[in-house]
Amino acid sequence: MSEKKVRVRFAPSPTGPLHVGGVRTALYNYLFARHHGGDFILRLEDTDQTRFVEGAEQYIIDSLKWAGISPDEGQGFGGDFGPYKQSERKAMYKPYADQLIEQGKAYYAFDTPEELDQMRDNAKKMGMPNWQYNSITRSNMKNSLSLSQEEVEERLKNGDPYVIRIKMPRDMDIKFEDIIRGWVSVNTNNLDDKVLFKADGMPTYHLANIVDDHTMEISHVIRGEEWLPSAPLHQFLYQAFEWEAPKFAHLPLILKPDGPGKLSKRDGDRLGFPVFPLNWTNSEGEVYSGYKESGYFPDAFVNILAFLGWNPGDERELFNLDELCKEFTLERVGKSGAKFDPDKAKWYNQQYLRQRSSDELADLLKGYIAENGLQNTSFEMAPICELMKERATFIKDIYEDGKYFFEGVTSYDEKTTRKKWKEQTTGIMTEWLETAKSIEDYSADHVEEQFKAFITSKELGLGAVLPNFRLLLTGVGSGPSLFSIAEILGKEEVISRMETGIAKITELKSQEA
Ligand code: GLU
Repeated sequence: MSEKKVRVRFAPSPTGPLHVGGVRTALYNYLFARHHGGDFILRLEDTDQTRFVEGAEQYIIDSLKWAGISPDEGQGFGGDFGPYKQSERKAMYKPYADQLIEQGKAYYAFDTPEELDQMRDNAKKMGMPNWQYNSITRSNMKNSLSLSQEEVEERLKNGDPYVIRIKMPRDMDIKFEDIIRGWVSVNTNNLDDKVLFKADGMPTYHLANIVDDHTMEISHVIRGEEWLPSAPLHQFLYQAFEWEAPKFAHLPLILKPDGPGKLSKRDGDRLGFPVFPLNWTNSEGEVYSGYKESGYFPDAFVNILAFLGWNPGDERELFNLDELCKEFTLERVGKSGAKFDPDKAKWYNQQYLRQRSSDELADLLKGYIAENGLQNTSFEMAPICELMKERATFIKDIYEDGKYFFEGVTSYDEKTTRKKWKEQTTGIMTEWLETAKSIEDYSADHVEEQFKAFITSKELGLGAVLPNFRLLLTGVGSGPSLFSIAEILGKEEVISRMETGIAKITELKSQEA
């Protein structure tokens, strides 16, 4: 085979929001294209007009952009092979269906939907629940193979509704090699005469898909495993048109975290993790949460998806998009389903958060605060991020865990107050306050040194005093280095928080007593 330029496409149907499985398909196409210096194309397969969903097209485009895997060409991105939306290519498909009719490879079928239902019902009553329109049953149906030529012409002239069906031969093996699954062989006796062209003047997915892949010069079809059953028909169509078929790679399913079966929207609701890249509001106004809005970084999201089916063959787990482009090959994509692990997804985000510089995190945190109308701070944001990032998974955790930097101390943790603030604590803390007032250098190291000197001189234990100092500065019972917190707050704020805190806690205690 001649070395064709690598051209791959992601071909979703805009029937709703893109699920993570769809984004993974897009990602693998993107990575494969980048790895081979090829083109990545977005084509919208909207031949089924009954399943049109408002906003789905834009959602797909926005999702790919957010993940950083924008197509080189396609719907919303331009290019020389357009239009890239099948409904806008409508006029293009009929001649191909006609060609197959002329060559005796397809036929007209005039059966009404009611007649087809009747046929299915009768078959069911006779113990055949899976009736099919195929090489055996077609002779009993109303089509251009069973009816006389005159009747067919008459019906066409009258404008009787018809569909065009592929004429599957009897007992022929269709074989092709899938890059991931190896050789696939299916006998045509197991395939039905699928509709290629519908009564509404639109092609079906099958016809449009292969006409487009051919005319858009697609070299590799990389898509979900759910399309594997359609692949023999597609191979057959390529043969029927005498076109060179693209190579196929059917990706493994993404499975539920906790059991068998495909990951679904409901699993996300049930187990509390996003299944969609971006928030999606359905026609009933229900909102499904997205990775973006849940605080995932695009690079973490991409890394998570990359590992749902692919691995580099060694222990490495962190790959940014550029690294993935270099390393990704379809040969390293597994056959078996990949279990989605929500905890692992969080772990990835945590790793990417830690990799970011404090300045970057500070910018993101500022954005988060502004977007959510939260309390800003006069303290420097970068040191806060530096201090809090080891414990955070998402940007919001920096704010939530470090609320005392933004909102001040609004209450004192009940448990710590009860357990640690003893009768003598007010006295000790007042003395420490006096010492703290005399300290000039509020660097973390210096405050720590002074604090330790203070407790040694008083012959106190660290465990008895430190939690109370923390309580005064933060209101909470645990957190990162208290001396670093003191450095960020600075002398004036430390003193003021201590004064307020000692008074308030002492009062609380006296009320309890
Ligand atoms: N339109 C199909 C889908 O919604 C695409 C299948 C393919 O890539 O061939 O996933």
